[in-house]
Amino acid sequence: MIVILLGLPGSGKGTQAKALCGRYGLTHLATGDIFRSEISAKTPFGAKAADYMKKGQLVPDDLVTEMVAGRMDMTGRYLLDGFPRTIEQAEEFGKGLAQEGAKVNLTVLLSLTNEEALRRLTARRVCGKCGEVFNVLTKKPTSEDKCDSCQGDLIQRNDDARETVAKRLMVFEDLTQPLVTFYRNEGVFEEVDGSRAPAEVTNSLIQVFDRVLKQKA
Ligand code: AMP
Repeated sequence: MIVILLGLPGSGKGTQAKALCGRYGLTHLATGDIFRSEISAKTPFGAKAADYMKKGQLVPDDLVTEMVAGRMDMTGRYLLDGFPRTIEQAEEFGKGLAQEGAKVNLTVLLSLTNEEALRRLTARRVCGKCGEVFNVLTKKPTSEDKCDSCQGDLIQRNDDARETVAKRLMVFEDLTQPLVTFYRNEGVFEEVDGSRAPAEVTNSLIQVFDRVLKQKA
């Protein structure tokens, strides 16, 4: 069972994936999170990805595909967040799934304007210790620079700086947006308004998942 969450950086894919995975028995696979942990662990993989990420560019397709293939059982149950991000990745991934008799069961686009994505991302702060995500406009931590859950230091991701966010939004437009048409033609495709409060978006996603995935069970 494969579900893909598509959407601009900042559209809430990670937040929604965390809210939904347990309910549907899906494993959350977020390529951005994996790259960040590879960078922290100073692995060769992380070293190769770091420069691209810092500049707001995509990591090359062959690296991403290799990393995902090494971490996924194509017959498993996954909620994909941040992958695929290019037509090439989607095609390679489709081939890997087909070899195992699997396919993408559902793709959901979390829609958001570029302006709102920019506003959200530049206000995002992340706990360097436990990874909890805050937002200085909409989900303020109690203390300005400490995590409410573990008291770790809150940091701004280096790719959330304004110029880098602008670059990431352009990259999405050029390379990831074409996946909307790709997956519309592939099978079940749904769109959910990602501009609302997280709990409202979760409710809409639950309705979509219940309707679509129940039929697939
Ligand atoms: P994210 O946390 O999903 O916003 O991803 C952060 C960064 O990781 C992106 O800007 C890319 O540099 C890199 N990245 C994550 N997923 C992919 C992917 N599927 N293809 C290429 N680069 C990726």
